[in-house]
Amino acid sequence: MQEYGETFDKWRKIIARTNLYFVVFNFAVEFFMYFILLKSNLIFQAIPVYIVAFLILPSTANVLVVLIGNFILKHVSTDFKFINYIPVIQMAFLALIVASTHFVFPITLCFFFFPMFITVLFGDKRMTRTIEIICGMFLILALLSRKFSPFKMEIDDNFVPEAIIAFAILIASGIICSVLIQYQNEKSDIIYKGYLQQLDLQDQVSKDQKTGLYGHGMLMKTLYKMVKSSETTNQGFTLAIIDIDDFKKVNDTHGHLTGDKVILTLSALMQQSNCERCFLSRFGGEEFAIIFSGIEINDVFGYMEALRTEFQKRTFGFNNEAITISAGIASWKPGVDSNKLFNNADTAMYAAKTSGKNKTVIFE
Ligand code: GH3
Ligand code: MG
Ligand code: MG
Repeated sequence: MQEYGETFDKWRKIIARTNLYFVVFNFAVEFFMYFILLKSNLIFQAIPVYIVAFLILPSTANVLVVLIGNFILKHVSTDFKFINYIPVIQMAFLALIVASTHFVFPITLCFFFFPMFITVLFGDKRMTRTIEIICGMFLILALLSRKFSPFKMEIDDNFVPEAIIAFAILIASGIICSVLIQYQNEKSDIIYKGYLQQLDLQDQVSKDQKTGLYGHGMLMKTLYKMVKSSETTNQGFTLAIIDIDDFKKVNDTHGHLTGDKVILTLSALMQQSNCERCFLSRFGGEEFAIIFSGIEINDVFGYMEALRTEFQKRTFGFNNEAITISAGIASWKPGVDSNKLFNNADTAMYAAKTSGKNKTVIFE
């Protein structure tokens, strides 16, 4: 549900606004109906009584429901478990006011379907059931008001069948809401699965076929994103660039396949080391990079030295001569963009090469 936080927030506001429009619309209809009933001689009360009972009282109640609902919505914490219920219950109250004021027209009992169907929006069957219970209780209140209202009609023969029908339709609407929610949930499942597949595919495309590490494009994109995020959070990170020493010689003397084995051994070592928040990349032939986040530069240095000495111990069956790596490390600082950071780490790596290779150098 967490990922829907902002969407639900928006839709709670939309429902609350819809409730307000409903109140305005309702007033307009009541006003219009007054003239129609007046013309058709269907007003059985004294005019002032009618105006108070069917225009002023329900409209005031409607406005109160809107004000109170919106007040609660504004002041309750968004962490509140039942916050989505507030505008829906607000709508149920508006339906109660319509149904219990205008019971002369039994069709007003149908207004309870509006809050019922709006629950589909939140895709939560438990919410639909709760609102169904609330609407059921409100329906009883509306029926009681019809039964005992001082303004009730002389003839009320159809009370029992109409009450039964109203309940039957409420229950049916609950069932239909459940079906709609089920459909909606299955549809979002399909969309979500498609999204995961797409991520998977993207991941495969951006990874180097040989080692399974991220390629050059993904490295630069990640660096760019991390620099942007660091600029807002001011939390730094460190980039290490690794290059295998005298690799041409390995290829030339022992063949390309042996060279490949060396590359795979180094990438496997990088993957084995349990660096949870590290981004690993093979951005060139025998050139690798690691982005470390949430780790101090001294610890990164320690990590790189451990990798270097561990790699040095590996033998490839053709000689006892060790194959070594050189690494350069640079940390992000305010004002350093992703290209500059890459160049800084590369400069440090180059310094390691020129000062004898098989070492890790920190960019100064
Ligand atoms: P240095 O110590 O200065 O890094 O010397 P070097 O010989 O390693 O020089 P450089 O880094 O320029 O060498 C890159 C070599 O890596 C050239 C190329 O033939 C080889 N190479 C690049 N990709 C692959 C690959 O996938 N497999 C093999 N076997 N060799 C590769
Ligand atoms: Mg190289
Ligand atoms: Mg090299």
